[in-house]
This record gives sequence, structure tokens and C-alpha cells, in this order.
Amino acid sequence: MRISFQRAYPWLRVGSRGPDLVCQQVVELVTDYLEGALSPADRWRFEAHLEGCPHCTEYLAQMRETIRLAGRLTPEDLTPAMRSDLTDLYRQWRAEG
Ligand SMILES: [Zn+2]
Repeated sequence: MRISFQRAYPWLRVGSRGPDLVCQQVVELVTDYLEGALSPADRWRFEAHLEGCPHCTEYLAQMRETIRLAGRLTPEDLTPAMRSDLTDLYRQWRAEG
């Protein structure tokens, strides 16, 4: 099940940074990244974005921790509560930025 993150998280649009992945795309791709399912080009862009984006680096760390605790990660593991937490997190980053 894939939901539209653009619809769910319209505030995730943190502005265009040229050809780099924006944070919204990182959120969408993180499970594929962690599963090694990204193409080499997408993986490179993903990691290139992380290098310049502490927010997504932190997000990825949280996802890794979630997987470590759960032993796996499926879209169903992103509970409404977790989505809400992420919403607050990104909103806070946006306010600070
Ligand atoms: Zn980012």
C-alpha cells in the first residue's frame, strides 16, 4: 500500500534544490533504500541528499531504529501515530528553518 505523501504531507515541500531529491521523496524512498531496492542512480541521489540534509539523516536513523525494534519494516508498520509524529517533526524543522 502506497499513500500519496504529497497529499498527506504537503508541508514536506521544502523547496527545490535543483536535481536533488527533496525531503518528501526521501521519505517515500526510505523503505526501498533500507531494503536495497533502489536503483544505483536513485541510491546515489538518496545518499547525496542525506549528506546535505540533517533532517532526513535523522529520519533515516529513526527508521533504522524502528526496523531494529520491529525486526522488519512494512508500510503497515507506519502506524497513524508514527505518521503523526513525523508530521510534528517536520513541522518543527520547518518552523526552525
Ligand atoms: Zn531532506
